[in-house]
Amino acid sequence: ISEADWRRATELIRAAGTLALACHVSPDADALGSMLGLGLALARTGKKVVASFGDRVFAVPRLLRFLPGQHLLAEPSAYPAEPELMITFDASTMERLGLLAPHAGKAGELVVIDHHVSNTGFGTVHLVDPAAASTTMVVEELMNRLGLTIDREVATCLYAGLVTDTGSFRHSITTPAAHAMAGRLLATGLRPEEIARELWDRSPFAYLRVLGTALGRATLEPDAAGGLGLVWTYVTRADRAAEGLPYDEVEGVIDVVRRVDEAEVAVVLKEDDEGGWNVSTRSKGAVDMARACAALGGGGHPRAAGFSSALSAADTMAALRPLLAPEGSRP
Ligand code: 5GP
Ligand code: MN
Ligand code: MN
Repeated sequence: ISEADWRRATELIRAAGTLALACHVSPDADALGSMLGLGLALARTGKKVVASFGDRVFAVPRLLRFLPGQHLLAEPSAYPAEPELMITFDASTMERLGLLAPHAGKAGELVVIDHHVSNTGFGTVHLVDPAAASTTMVVEELMNRLGLTIDREVATCLYAGLVTDTGSFRHSITTPAAHAMAGRLLATGLRPEEIARELWDRSPFAYLRVLGTALGRATLEPDAAGGLGLVWTYVTRADRAAEGLPYDEVEGVIDVVRRVDEAEVAVVLKEDDEGGWNVSTRSKGAVDMARACAALGGGGHPRAAGFSSALSAADTMAALRPLLAPEGSRP
């Protein structure tokens, strides 16, 4: 991130009376946490803040409702059509803003805060740091440069993004800087055990049933991914309807599937309520999932990426398989 971009971002935010914030569709803890954390701190300085995300059905995922600052959220229909200053969070492309992409296109200034290698460089000011473990890490630095106070509520938002995107400090992106930030946030008095429970250690009973169905049909393909192995499964809307489980409850299935020793790559296809598939992919490092998913219109990180598909589950897998060649084996 250049000093010029930092300076431009702080000048624009200081000068603005009203700020329009947007994170990527189907927000995760990093997207929503970075947006609400900055939004809360700015609102406390007297600025008018509107925050949203562009899903056609606007609902905060159940497991993120504990995040402070929900009162800042508004439906896309109530979002300013041509915001003077708009800030995006954790979105690597304009399309990831969904219904709010046209608003970003018409914004006077568009500050992009992100940490995806695959970021396309959209927007007028770029606070994009691929070395950052989470977008909330970039937000923390921005807040420090703005002189904003990080109290316990703001820290809860920032920590949720940090702990999620580092996989609870297990992923390779877990840098000394990530732990140092966690230390600063913990010093505000936030409750890591409560945040962890909200994020990962609770679900309705129906989740167990749907997880069982998904695991029961998991397929191991030892020859796929250049012989390093692929494990995959899927969750249909009928699976969820049978148990009354909302779509946003199946996000954790991939975390079970990806543990399989015999597979370098893990894939979970999740059918949404409209019948489209959202595909979660993970690798252990030898296969670049960001590249594979980008080829199918998605994106993400080398070891965790995703895309949407309008094809059937089988056809989606047929499109993905040839893209799973390990690094170095590609011509
Ligand atoms: P997840 O599998 O947890 O939904 O997504 C893993 C990562 O892949 C996310 O952090 C995000 O960066 C990326 N990702 C998932 N779905 C999409 C998508 O449809 N488009 C893009 N560009 N990235 C995605
Ligand atoms: Mn995200
Ligand atoms: Mn992120």
